Amino acid sequence: MEPITQPNDIAREAIKRLATRKQPPTPENFRRAYLEVQGAASVQSNWPESIRTLLAQWESYQAGLTQAKKRDMLDRVLINFGNDPDQLAVKLTGLARSWGESGSASAAVEGAGMETPAPDVAAAAQAVPASTALPSSPIVGSGGDSSTVGRLIVRYLEEFSSGCRSQWPDLATQGDSLVRKISNSGHLLEEKDVETMVGLWREIVIRADDEHELLFSLRRLLTLLFKNISELVSEDAWLSGQMVTMQAALSDHLNPHALFQAEEGLKELVQKQKQIKGSMNEAKEKLKRLVSSFINRIGEMSESTGQYNARIKDYSVRISKAEDIAELSDVMDGLSSDMAQMENQMVSTHQELLTARTHAEEAEMRIHTLEKELEEVSSLVREDQLTGALNRRGMEEAFAKELARADRMTAPFSVALLDIDHFKRLNDALGHQAGDQALVHLTSVVRQLLRPTDSFARYGGEEFLVLLPNSDLADAERIMLRVQRELTKQFFLHDNQRVLITFSAGVAQLQTGEAQADLLKRADSAMYKAKAAGRNRVERA
Ligand code: GH3
Ligand code: MG
Ligand code: MG
Repeated sequence: MEPITQPNDIAREAIKRLATRKQPPTPENFRRAYLEVQGAASVQSNWPESIRTLLAQWESYQAGLTQAKKRDMLDRVLINFGNDPDQLAVKLTGLARSWGESGSASAAVEGAGMETPAPDVAAAAQAVPASTALPSSPIVGSGGDSSTVGRLIVRYLEEFSSGCRSQWPDLATQGDSLVRKISNSGHLLEEKDVETMVGLWREIVIRADDEHELLFSLRRLLTLLFKNISELVSEDAWLSGQMVTMQAALSDHLNPHALFQAEEGLKELVQKQKQIKGSMNEAKEKLKRLVSSFINRIGEMSESTGQYNARIKDYSVRISKAEDIAELSDVMDGLSSDMAQMENQMVSTHQELLTARTHAEEAEMRIHTLEKELEEVSSLVREDQLTGALNRRGMEEAFAKELARADRMTAPFSVALLDIDHFKRLNDALGHQAGDQALVHLTSVVRQLLRPTDSFARYGGEEFLVLLPNSDLADAERIMLRVQRELTKQFFLHDNQRVLITFSAGVAQLQTGEAQADLLKRADSAMYKAKAAGRNRVERA
């Protein structure tokens, strides 16, 4: 195969590799693939060649490149790759070559209104994690006018769309429509197109980030599960051993083998859990049996006391009718033997009752412990039981994550706070249960319209919060208005009657350095403004 040397071709090949491997084209993945392709094409760690090329290009004149600019680029490569001699040699060669090609590249890119770092420098800049700019490499060194850049971007977008079609079809569709738009305009790029591309790029970075987050959460969940089960069955040495092994497997880097082992271990656990459940049910059954035998005993006692009562009555009749001592003595004998028997019976019943009570207390304690464990596990749940939206705990976590991400990516972030209108009336008219179902309905409609990266949380009784990463105030308002429109199409059905649910919402976009509480306060005020203005509307903070 011909070695690939042109930055355009390297970038295209890098994107192709990402698509083949189904890796999302995050800056980091792109950088890695780019270096990989370039590495294959370059002379690995050929220091004499690197120095020669660098010196030659350092001393040559290139249009638009001053010595100071070259020094700056060189510094960046040295900072990013100074610790890796192999990479450094490859980078320096690439940098020097890019100087040789840079004159025409800057002319080409100016038309697109974008920055024009040379490919290696772009790659070096990508190595700094904070960077979220579009990878500039595909359009560097095109050597043409702005329509050439447009054509290159179209090709890049086509790769992008085909790469993410199976996983994120909505992004592929957006990519397709941008391709159509640029192609129809004679491949002339408008600033808006670049903005759309940046938006798409941010979205994909966020989603890739979420996938990573998903794996991380899965691991956290499993670790928690193992920890809980191991506490639950601390007396069982075998099971505790299993737990420790599995926790260790998960605390290392996740890999298919560790996951396979964890899965196998879990299967055994499920078995064991069945047993625990069985013994819990057994303990409950035992308690039930004890209580019923207790009741029977009391019944028997009062029954025998009743019998004795009758006998005593009989004795007293016989005593009153006794005419001589012998007859009386017979009665007294019978009476005293009955009394002794009764006393014995009482003692043994008392003993039985004491034992039963100890068993009952033990069983109750065991049930209590098991129930407490279950409760603890449930308190870690992040979803609202009724609607399946995030609960307060889940919301706090999602909020913290989004704020950090908005800060890291310098992407816009907005929230919407919504409160159902006249919900008390709906409850009064149709009943609380119907009210509950209305909350479930609202959740399902909102969820249909949100992107996978948005979060939806139940903020209070009939108040909900939507977190909208990568969205500005206008986007947030648009999304909320869309939900309101959708609610007029998808009615809530109660006893086959269509009930219209409306809500008032306040939207607010995060300001630089703003705290979560302040952002929420602004959204809340905007929501009250919407209520005051007549309800069923969206107000901006
Ligand atoms: P508005 O917000 O438009 O001013 O009027 P509203 O009637 O919605 O007023 P408010 O927010 O004061 O009342 C909220 C009602 O929502 C009160 C409460 O009975 C009901 N509610 C809160 N949580 C739940 C729930 O989980 N289920 C049901 N069915 N009702 C709930
Ligand atoms: Mg309310
Ligand atoms: Mg309300």
